[in-house]
Amino acid sequence: MRGTVLPIARDTSIKPFSGALFFDIDGTLLDHDWAEERAAELFFGKHRDILKAQTASEFYNQWRDASSQYMEQFLRGSITFAEQRTRRCREVIGRTVSDREAEAIFGDYLEAYEANWRMFEDVSDVLNNLAGRGAQMGVISNGSAEQQTSKLRRMGLIQYFDPIVISESVGVSKPDRSIFETAAGRMGRNAGDCIHVGDSLEGDVAGALAAGMRAIWVNRSGKQLENERKIAAPQAKDLNAVLPILDSMG
Ligand SMILES: [Mg+2]
Repeated sequence: MRGTVLPIARDTSIKPFSGALFFDIDGTLLDHDWAEERAAELFFGKHRDILKAQTASEFYNQWRDASSQYMEQFLRGSITFAEQRTRRCREVIGRTVSDREAEAIFGDYLEAYEANWRMFEDVSDVLNNLAGRGAQMGVISNGSAEQQTSKLRRMGLIQYFDPIVISESVGVSKPDRSIFETAAGRMGRNAGDCIHVGDSLEGDVAGALAAGMRAIWVNRSGKQLENERKIAAPQAKDLNAVLPILDSMG
């Protein structure tokens, strides 16, 4: 038998990666929209007699609007995390409710929301790959420190990240450049050595770039940029697509 030279399979998964990476949580690692939609559906079914909306989809739209409105106020520091919950409830309920009642009603939503936390299916493999190659990884996320940390714990991802930087603890939220600078500092890196990976053009990409980090935009839903807007960051359709981009960024 004649000897054949077999091609040597190049295993890129063991190529060292010395970079410093930060990840956003919602919409990047965790499928927040899915959990929110399931929870809203359940919530509508249970409380439809007191809600303003007539249909589940009408309720979902109202709930999303209320959610982003009051979350923004919480992130700006003008209301507490508990207050944004009761205000969200009041916004969608068609009669007067006390704080206590609003909290109890919100509890039903929260239970369903948490029960539906799940990571996108590519997350585990990609983080394993990067950790195996020596990447230093952290999280930069907007929200409540307790809730965001428990998302990472419940998805079984918390061990990959250090530091975990949450806006509530830092006192500023993305896109403020100082949360990115704080995160880089906690990792013992210069912002210029870090790459931030996230799904929000405003919060993640613009914020990271303003702080001097590089950024990768994770565009899982295939959003089109308006007016052929150019962004100074590469775009990945999912987390798998982030890997070759990272290799090309060096
Ligand atoms: Mg996000």
